[in-house]
Amino acid sequence: MENIDNYNFEGKKAIIRVDFNVPLNKETFVVTDETRIAEALPTVNWILNNGGSVILMSHMGRPKGGPEVKYSLVLVIQTLNRLLNREVKFAEDCLGKSAKEMAKALMPGEVLLLENLRFHEEEEGKVKKDGLTEEEAKKKKAEMKERQRKMAEQLASYADVYINDAFGTAHRAHVSTSVIAEFFPNDKMFGYLMLSELSALKRILFKPRKPFTAIIGGAKATDKIDVIESLIDKVDNIIIGGGMTYTFIKARGGKIGNSLCEEDKLDVARYLINKAKEKNVKILLPVDQVIADNFDNNAKTKIVKIDEGQDGWMGLDIGEETIKQFSEVIENSETILWNGPMGVFELQKFQHGTRSLAKAVAGATTKGAYSLVGGGDTVASVNKFGFGHRYSYVSTGGGAMLEYIEGKILPGVKAIIL
Ligand code: AMP
Repeated sequence: MENIDNYNFEGKKAIIRVDFNVPLNKETFVVTDETRIAEALPTVNWILNNGGSVILMSHMGRPKGGPEVKYSLVLVIQTLNRLLNREVKFAEDCLGKSAKEMAKALMPGEVLLLENLRFHEEEEGKVKKDGLTEEEAKKKKAEMKERQRKMAEQLASYADVYINDAFGTAHRAHVSTSVIAEFFPNDKMFGYLMLSELSALKRILFKPRKPFTAIIGGAKATDKIDVIESLIDKVDNIIIGGGMTYTFIKARGGKIGNSLCEEDKLDVARYLINKAKEKNVKILLPVDQVIADNFDNNAKTKIVKIDEGQDGWMGLDIGEETIKQFSEVIENSETILWNGPMGVFELQKFQHGTRSLAKAVAGATTKGAYSLVGGGDTVASVNKFGFGHRYSYVSTGGGAMLEYIEGKILPGVKAIIL
């Protein structure tokens, strides 16, 4: 493994896995939050300033294995041109003759962006096993592995050195985050973003100042259960908000009306509540909520107690009493970890809870607490409210951050260090 600070980029081509999976306006396709692009700049500029050229590769959204206009990386090129202050070249397919030639022709100081990696199903390497025997599934998996190797080989052929700077996808063992590293046994390294993400996480997980409060929100409990379980061993308080609240509320016998709920996770929710009790960790659930008769800004709304949901109404934000209680805990914390919004912050009518907590975390940080905020939606929300710059560290990773906290070795990290 090499170190980006010491590596000689003079005359070299660097292929960098970046995370340009940025949120877009659903109608105009304009980039609505360019944080992830801006965060890739230190690595890109360092290489360009040291005599190298750069090939950028990324995914965007969840295409179904083929090209889709709404997931084209061409949508980020204007932002990239502006932020890099140069004309970035664009390869309309990350593989094939044209991309190969464009990479070959790249001169020092130039940048080439490859089209969405996930337009090729090899990138993720998913194999549909439905209706296959065990033997057939095994064969298909082996075939896919070979196809992934070929894709990695072509991408690797474009460059002299491989850099992983995509923390947002470091938890995926994909072609561009993991397989490709095999083709650069020595010339591989982390980019600056990846290095600072890992250092922020280490700071939170090893010897955090206490009290340590984790705020976990967002739509689905499924995605956050493992992290809640592992946080129980590390933190003093776990604040739960957002759509996932209702699985916990139903699990303890409350009424949730038409709010989001994952019936198959009720037992796990009960288990977590009990485990936290045993370990003396406080799980704070909302006490009141904003319920709405519709999922839009014109909906009729009411404020009711959290376990008094009503049929035909959905809980879409936390209520004022909850905000007060959560804020108090946050303001008395020395370390704060936040992943997941408290409500449907995309709609103005239901953003008050998330905005208020964003403010409370910013206030605690000003008073000296260390705050780490992560997750695509959370970062989008705090930036939207203008608090982004007030936290100790804003992570570009959601799932990767959660898996790291769970104690898993991220494939994107393993591929570089081993
Ligand atoms: P996640 O990707 O799991 O962090 O979830 C983020 C999404 O959760 C955002 O799009 C929010 O609009 C959504 N969300 C937050 N609170 C609720 C809620 N009470 N009901 C439905 N969706 C919610």
